[in-house]
Amino acid sequence: MIKKNPQVRRRKTVALDIVIVGSGIAGLGTAMAFTDAGKKVMVLEKKMTGEASQAAAGILDPFLERGPRHPLLPLAISALRKFPQLIQKIRKVTGGDAGYRCAGLMYVAFTPAEEKILRAKYRWQKKTGVALRWLKRHEVVKREPGVCGSVRCGIYYPGIGRVIAPDFLRSIRTYLIKKGCLFRTVSRDPRPVTDQKGVKRFMFGAGGNTYLAADMVFTRGAWEKYSPKKNVRPWFRPVRGQALIVRMPRCKLMTTVHSVRSAYVVPWQKSVYLLGSTVEFSGFRPHTTRAGLCRIRDGAQRLVPAFRSARMIRKWAGLRPISRDRLPVIGRTGAGGAYLLNGLYRSGILLGCELGRLLSHGIMRRKMPKIIEPYSPGRIKI
Ligand SMILES: Cc1cc2nc3c(=O)[nH]c(=O)nc-3n(C[C@H](O)[C@H](O)[C@H](O)COP(=O)(O)OP(=O)(O)OC[C@H]3O[C@@H](n4cnc5c(N)ncnc54)[C@H](O)[C@@H]3O)c2cc1C
Repeated sequence: MIKKNPQVRRRKTVALDIVIVGSGIAGLGTAMAFTDAGKKVMVLEKKMTGEASQAAAGILDPFLERGPRHPLLPLAISALRKFPQLIQKIRKVTGGDAGYRCAGLMYVAFTPAEEKILRAKYRWQKKTGVALRWLKRHEVVKREPGVCGSVRCGIYYPGIGRVIAPDFLRSIRTYLIKKGCLFRTVSRDPRPVTDQKGVKRFMFGAGGNTYLAADMVFTRGAWEKYSPKKNVRPWFRPVRGQALIVRMPRCKLMTTVHSVRSAYVVPWQKSVYLLGSTVEFSGFRPHTTRAGLCRIRDGAQRLVPAFRSARMIRKWAGLRPISRDRLPVIGRTGAGGAYLLNGLYRSGILLGCELGRLLSHGIMRRKMPKIIEPYSPGRIKI
């Protein structure tokens, strides 16, 4: 008789409700909604240099790169309003504040042309219901004495806060683990299979077991290879953003200060600030450049001259995922019935959890909520 070797473990087959591929904010936000609904969830990770979520400045600005008729504006405003609830939910389970602080955001203008842009923004943004105030020069300087004296005016948004992105992601991860969500590192994507009853599943191996998931969501950011047709270039591409963290003991900034263009300064920790950022269509090059960092420093010094003597502590670059029409892509793909949440571009930290929630509702009810229907992969024409 052959004796069984106790060391040789039989491969177990484990059933899951959902597998999520990618652990940036889109993946974690989606996992959160499914976990809250009591589903058995696994997040598959793969370390890629340049993950956007870890690199983000964490400003919760619903107006960034959006005009009054931008289709995503109502969703972005709704995500901003729900953010304090989201933080409270995370805090209840983890005990931490997820790096959230609501000390307001201020856009400032230095030239007549910039003032004109700000005035136009103020006119339409005050009709959106988001709290905002027009600030004259002396009001800007009174609120933030560090801002350059040549400032002409500003718009102040008291309800627009920020999160420290790495802390925010860590907190969501802790939340998910405490609520039973599983994480695994894999080298290969799950593949669609049909079981004996003719039901489609997604199969993959991890940690010596075989997993069969009823549904799958791809949240692979800039690395997403999805295209509606074979041999056509992917619908997503990377947009590099560089940022640096500086120490500046002499400066006491409370509010996030943003120029009319892309420069901003975010109060990060005591005497520590994040300076951002670049917007570069430079392919998969997730490294910082001298030119990029100089541009960021110049932009920050124009906003707050004291940053001239700031000491750099860290620098990084992340690859923001953008779709060809610059809007998110959310919903079911033709590719084996998997779902997609991607293209969050410059607003993933603000939108990730809200869009993940809406997508999860759509998957569980087998009908996407009306508000995300315009972002269906079905809209993609080559
Ligand atoms: C400098 C900078 C500043 C920003 N500032 C802000 C801001 O202030 N506010 C804001 O809201 N947004 C901001 N953003 C944008 C925000 O970071 C992105 O929109 C968001 O992070 C995109 O999230 P994602 O999950 O789609 O992609 P990512 O965060 O890139 O996540 C994708 C994940 O998928 C993984 N992956 C890839 N391939 C595979 C695979 N085959 N298997 C498993 N996993 C895989 C990657 O490793 C990664 O973890 C900023 C971005 C940058 C770069």
